[in-house]
Amino acid sequence: MIPSAFDYHQPATLDEAIRLLANTEDAKVLAGGHSLLPAMKLRLAQPKTIVDLGRIVELSYIREENGRIAIGAMTTHFEIESSALLRDKCPLLPELALHIGDVQVRNKGTFGGSLVHADPAADWPAAVLALNAEFEIAGPNGRRTVQAAEFFVEMMQTAVQPNEILREVRMPVTPKSVAYAKFAQKASGFAIAGVAVLVTNQARTASIGITGVAAKPYRATAVEKHLQGKELSAELIRAASTKAADGIDPLNDIHASAEFRARLAQVQCQRALERAAAV
Ligand SMILES: Cc1cc2nc3c(=O)[nH]c(=O)nc-3n(C[C@H](O)[C@H](O)[C@H](O)COP(=O)(O)OP(=O)(O)OC[C@H]3O[C@@H](n4cnc5c(N)ncnc54)[C@H](O)[C@@H]3O)c2cc1C
Repeated sequence: MIPSAFDYHQPATLDEAIRLLANTEDAKVLAGGHSLLPAMKLRLAQPKTIVDLGRIVELSYIREENGRIAIGAMTTHFEIESSALLRDKCPLLPELALHIGDVQVRNKGTFGGSLVHADPAADWPAAVLALNAEFEIAGPNGRRTVQAAEFFVEMMQTAVQPNEILREVRMPVTPKSVAYAKFAQKASGFAIAGVAVLVTNQARTASIGITGVAAKPYRATAVEKHLQGKELSAELIRAASTKAADGIDPLNDIHASAEFRARLAQVQCQRALERAAAV
C-alpha cells in the first residue's frame, strides 16, 4: 500500500526541525519509520508534512556525563545493543535491546521513536521506568525535562506534544544486577509481558518496570514494596512477584486474555528478579 501524498523535509539541525514543525500544518517527525510508515500505509496516520530526523547527527549518541548516561533520541536499538559503554555502565539497556524484533528492526528503529510512539507492547518503556530515566524535550519555547513517571500518558501518547521533539534520555549509571524477562508475541517479537528489573543489594531495593500488560507501562510498586529492605531469597521473590499486576487493568486481545497477561507479568517478574538477584 502507498501512503497518501505528503511534503517532505530533511533538516540538518534540531533547531531547523523545530522551526519546520512550528511553521508547517499537520507535520509529523520521522525517525526509523518502522511504526510511522506502516501507520501511513494503512491510513491510520495521514500527515501532510514529514520532517525526517535522519540527517540530524546531533541526535545520535551514547555518552556518560556527570555520572549519568545520556542517549540521543535517534540512537538505534543496535547502537545500544552493541555499546561497550552501556554494557559496562548501564547493562539493562543492551540486554533489553537484544529482545527487540530482529536485526533489521534493531538497525533502523530508534530509541526515541519507540519511546514517543508508546506502543503498549514496546520493550523500552519497561527499562526507562525501572531506571528512573528523565526525558529532555525540545520545542518552540526551548527545552523541558520530564521524569519517566510522567512521560507515558496513555496508550500511544506521551508528554511530547506535536510541535516538540524528544532530544535526549538520561539515566543513572547502574550496577550489573539487572535483568529483562519477556514473553513475546511470536510473529512480531513485541512484548505480551516484559519486565525490567534493577536490584540494589546494598540498599535492599528493587526497581521494576513492566510493559505489554496494560495500556501504558507501569512500575510494579506493590512488588517493590514487598521486597523493600529485605534480603532477597527465591521464596521472597516468588511471593513478591504474585503482586506484579496488582491494581492494574490488564489488556485483553487476540494475543492474550487479561487473566493470562496478569499471570505472565507475575512469571516474568519472578524470572527477571531471580536473574538480577542471582538467587
Ligand atoms: C516487524 C517489526 C517488529 C518489531 N518488534 C519490536 C519489538 O519486539 N519490540 C519493540 O519494542 N519494538 C518493536 N518494533 C518497533 C521498532 O522497534 C521501532 O522502534 C518503533 O517502530 C519506533 O521507532 P522508529 O524509530 O521506527 O520511529 P518512527 O516509526 O519513525 O516514529 C514513531 C512515532 O514517534 C514519533 N517520533 C519519532 N521520533 C521522535 C522524536 N525524536 N521526537 C518526537 N517524536 C518522534 C513519530 O512522529 C511517530 O509518531 C518492531 C517493528 C517492526 C516493524
